[in-house]
Parts: sequence; C-alpha cells; structure tokens
Amino acid sequence: MDNKLFTPGPLNTKLSVKQAMLHDMGSRDKEFLEIVKEIRAELLIIAGLTPEDGYDSVLMQGSGTFGVESVISTVIPTDGHLLLITNGAYGDRIGQMAKVYGIRTTTLNYRENIVPPVEDAENVLLKDETITHIAIVHCETTTGIFNDIEGIGLLAKKYGKVFIVDAMSSFGAVPIDMKALGIDFLVSSSNKCIEGVPGFSFVIAKIKTLETCIGQARTVSLDLYSQWIDLKKNNQFRFTPPIQSILAFRKAIDELKAEGGILKRSERYQQNYQRLIEGTEALGLRTYLNKEDQGYIITSFLFPEHLNFDFTRFYESLHQRGQVIYQGKLSDTNCFRIGNIGQLYLQDIENLLIAIKEVLEEM
Ligand SMILES: *Cc1c(COP(=O)(O)O)cnc(C)c1O
Repeated sequence: MDNKLFTPGPLNTKLSVKQAMLHDMGSRDKEFLEIVKEIRAELLIIAGLTPEDGYDSVLMQGSGTFGVESVISTVIPTDGHLLLITNGAYGDRIGQMAKVYGIRTTTLNYRENIVPPVEDAENVLLKDETITHIAIVHCETTTGIFNDIEGIGLLAKKYGKVFIVDAMSSFGAVPIDMKALGIDFLVSSSNKCIEGVPGFSFVIAKIKTLETCIGQARTVSLDLYSQWIDLKKNNQFRFTPPIQSILAFRKAIDELKAEGGILKRSERYQQNYQRLIEGTEALGLRTYLNKEDQGYIITSFLFPEHLNFDFTRFYESLHQRGQVIYQGKLSDTNCFRIGNIGQLYLQDIENLLIAIKEVLEEM
C-alpha cells in the first residue's frame, strides 16, 4: 500500500490512472496525437469554456513552474511592465522569474495571511499607466489562502491589462469563470486537482492575447507561442512529450467526469477539509489563517506550543504510520501543512486524525 499523501502534489492517484501508463507509444503516433487533441479540448470544457469563447489550451513539458515560466517569459514584451501581487512563495517565484528575464516589475507584497486588497492594485494602476500585465496566484499553496481573483480580474478588465493567474492548486476543484474574470492566461499542471501524475503543465490562454506574443519568448524550450502553433497545427509537441503522463492525464479526466465533474470534486475536497478542521480543532491544533480566508485545498497549522513538540519527530512518526504531511513554507511562522486533494476520502482524514492523536500523545 502506498502512503497517503496529504501534500499539495504530487498526489495519490487512482489505480486506473496509473494503469493507463502501461503503454509505449511514439510521439508522432496518430493515436497519441488524438489523445493530445482530446485533452486540449477537455481542458477548455473543464474551464467552462466553449470553442466560441476564443480560448485555447497549450500543454508544456515540465512541472507547474515550467508552465508559469513559459507564460512569464513569453507573454510580457521587453517594453512591458508587470504588476505582481504576492502573498507567498509561489507569487514570489513569479517575481524571481521576472527578475531573471529583466522584466520591469512593480510588486505589491503582503504578509502570508493577508488577502491582497483590490484597492491597492487599483491605486497602482491609477498612478502608473505603463503597467501592461497583472499576475497573481489563486490558491497560494504556501498557506492555502484563496486570493481574490474575481476582484483583481475585474480590475484588469476595467483597465485593459493582460491578466495572468497561477491556478496551479485550484484548477479542477474550484470553479473559475475565466471569461467573466477576463483571465488571459491561466496555468495549472497534471499532478494537482485533475489527479494525474507529474510530467507537464498546461496553459489556458485567450487566443487574441496569445496571438500577439509571436517572437517574444526569451527561451527556446519554454516558448509558449511556438508550442501553441505546433499543437494547433497537428497536436504535436516540439520536443519529446511525457507520453505516459499524458496517457494518465487522459484517464484522470475520465475519472473526474465519472466523479461528477468539478463541482463534485470540489464537494469531496470541502468535506475532507471540514472534517480535518473539526478533528484537528478537537485535538487543540490551530490554523495559521483566519477561517474566512482559508481555502479547502491545503491548510497551514501552527506548531503546538507544547515544549515536547518536535516537527521532525512528528513528521517521521506520521510517516511510519503511512501518513505523509507537508512541511511549512512560511517566512516567519512555524507551520506544517495538510492537504485534502488527490485520492483522499473522509476515511483517510479519519485515519490521519487518529495517527495525529497517537503521535501527539506519544510526544
Ligand atoms: C504546485 C504549485 C506550483 C508549481 O510547482 P511545481 O513544483 O513546479 O509543480 C506553482 N504554483 C502553485 C500555487 C502551486 O501550488
């Protein structure tokens, strides 16, 4: 039996998803290209889009970060100006990318337990007309906070800015109305809420905006525009595709549909989250975020104040019981994280709670 992964990904996947990988296939096989085509169409459906809405999906080799980097390094021109809104490590990572590519950036930086207020962003836009792009993380997995992409999206629309959303850990489990929010580029990956295995990321892009990105890429391999052109032409990747990961993803989409789609998956994750919160509260654990800002994807817990609490021992003892939690990533507070996504059900949360109780009592 594999361990239960209460992490932000890679996650536990269905047996059928793993079994879907037991094939060899050439990257130019008709069968494979048909699967890529299906996945690209299905992603738009999962995003709530129809072909008339003017969006397309681009698969990109590599983990989620590669997808974000393909967007940042391709869609912001040399004379562009990025407004980055960040309250965690994944937002900061976008800042790091912008720096490496020499992209002019204005950063609104918040503490990790603050939802960035829309007014602040509006003030920046009012003062500085040179801003061309806005980027934000939806579920900032550092803490599990849900950022206000509705508010920021409407702002981007109102001021005519290109809007980039890292929805890595929310896409597929939190409904996002891309059209209403005017999202130009949304990024997620194969091994988060769609419950596939690692291997690639994907970008859902507004075609009108993507079309303007010709010749802007600063790298060859992460050139989002060229990747799109080739996929659009014949569903081929420019370089070796992660075949088995794509086969698994095709199956993972079937499983998402069989579960009842995004809303049903969202319900399951929310049930996991509710039980986790009740159970951990009963054990005296406290969450880092205020409840109203906390999403249902992953939760940060403060270290218990007991003198005997030792995170390494806590982690190891849980691990010995087959329960894998996640370390914290906060800049100034000791936390650990527990995710509810992937193939996890109420019984798994119960088992984790029992294990946590045992380990805390031991300590
Ligand atoms: C997981 C994640 C990423 C990408 O991380 P990888 O390790 O590259 O897969 C980016 N942003 C957010 C918000 C994430 O949760």
